[in-house]
Amino acid sequence: MDAIVLGGGLMGTASAYFLTRRGVRVTLIERARIGAGATVASFGNIRRSGRHLSQLPLAARSLALWNEAETLLGRDVEFQPTGHLRLIFDADSLEDMRSYAQAAQAEGLVLDELDPAELHARFPGIGPDAIAASFSPRDGSANPRLIGPAFADAAARAGASVIDEAPVSDIRRTGTGFTVETAKGTFHAAHLLNCAGAWGRAIAARFGEDVPLETWGPQMAVTEPLPHRIAPVVGVWSQAHGAYLRQVERGNVVFGGAVDRVRVAEEPGYARPDPARLPAQVAAVLKLVPALADVAIIRQWSGCEGYVADALPVMGPSGTTPGLFHAFGFCGHGFQLGPGVGSAMAELIAAGQCETPLEDFSITRFAA
Ligand SMILES: Cc1cc2nc3c(=O)[nH]c(=O)nc-3n(C[C@H](O)[C@H](O)[C@H](O)COP(=O)(O)OP(=O)(O)OC[C@H]3O[C@@H](n4cnc5c(N)ncnc54)[C@H](O)[C@@H]3O)c2cc1C
Repeated sequence: MDAIVLGGGLMGTASAYFLTRRGVRVTLIERARIGAGATVASFGNIRRSGRHLSQLPLAARSLALWNEAETLLGRDVEFQPTGHLRLIFDADSLEDMRSYAQAAQAEGLVLDELDPAELHARFPGIGPDAIAASFSPRDGSANPRLIGPAFADAAARAGASVIDEAPVSDIRRTGTGFTVETAKGTFHAAHLLNCAGAWGRAIAARFGEDVPLETWGPQMAVTEPLPHRIAPVVGVWSQAHGAYLRQVERGNVVFGGAVDRVRVAEEPGYARPDPARLPAQVAAVLKLVPALADVAIIRQWSGCEGYVADALPVMGPSGTTPGLFHAFGFCGHGFQLGPGVGSAMAELIAAGQCETPLEDFSITRFAA
């Protein structure tokens, strides 16, 4: 069995790795640099709480793999199961959290509810005005710069061909599979996996499948290094788009959220943060950790991500073309899912079925 994986972000590199481990001959084709799309721009949050319930089985599969990542990949990708703390500032959000926690429990996600006394005792200086919080002890973060190259290198060591910096000029179905023409040669395989992220819509459209996907960029920033005081990833339960932050081991505090995403043109797909939005974002961050009031912000960035109209990804077999599979459009929360997506797609392609339910993510939901 052989397969071409198009797109060398987290989804493509993880799929290439797990397909190769299942004995599939894989060619991974990336038109630019491995891991340099949405993946490298990610905040790095490995968060299950608040996910659409249909994603929780996949998120559980992925979390198990994040825990094994260093062994599987032979490299530290800075996975830190520090726990994920979500602050609550009003009664409606507390109700939302409780009903979500009850529903999510059936899917294996346990959220501890903390009252203000517990919150302040366990996490001093975090959310002084919060009326409660949820804590998901097994979640955490990893380094978005390391994960794509780590999966690609592990796939190559296992036997995959990794072709990067290879602009693609044509992708077509032939009698025996798919042909992909690139600046570095022409490749053929019986199966094609579309992991082109925000650009996956264009590839699906070549095969008559339209997906309502738009390209946007969440806006991120990072502070100067500070003494390490904040252990968990911190976010907010809120109907509005709340802020979130984490402190990396080197001491910098990375933060995002709380402001609108920036519009990104699909081509060339370069996302630019808007400095005018920074003051509102900082004000929201200070509600989480007031002690950050006087620190210097050293960099802002964004990344081109594909947002599907119903906020769910596209995963599974094509509805029009035998041998074609899709895994794209992760709507700003694909980082946590990445290893699980790779192993689920590999199972689906190599074994013809997947033990993790993927039906809700089928591209055929847009066929009508
Ligand atoms: C700023 C930001 C912050 C985020 N924070 C989080 C977070 O904290 N937690 C979380 O879970 N998720 C987060 N996400 C989302 C997460 O990063 C993405 O969902 C995930 O990285 C998507 O991976 P991907 O492989 O699908 O896409 P990408 O990493 O974009 O990879 C797609 C690749 O396909 C290549 N490509 C495109 N067209 C072609 C073609 N025709 N042929 C070959 N290659 C092609 C591109 O060059 C690119 O490298 C964030 C995203 C952004 C932008």
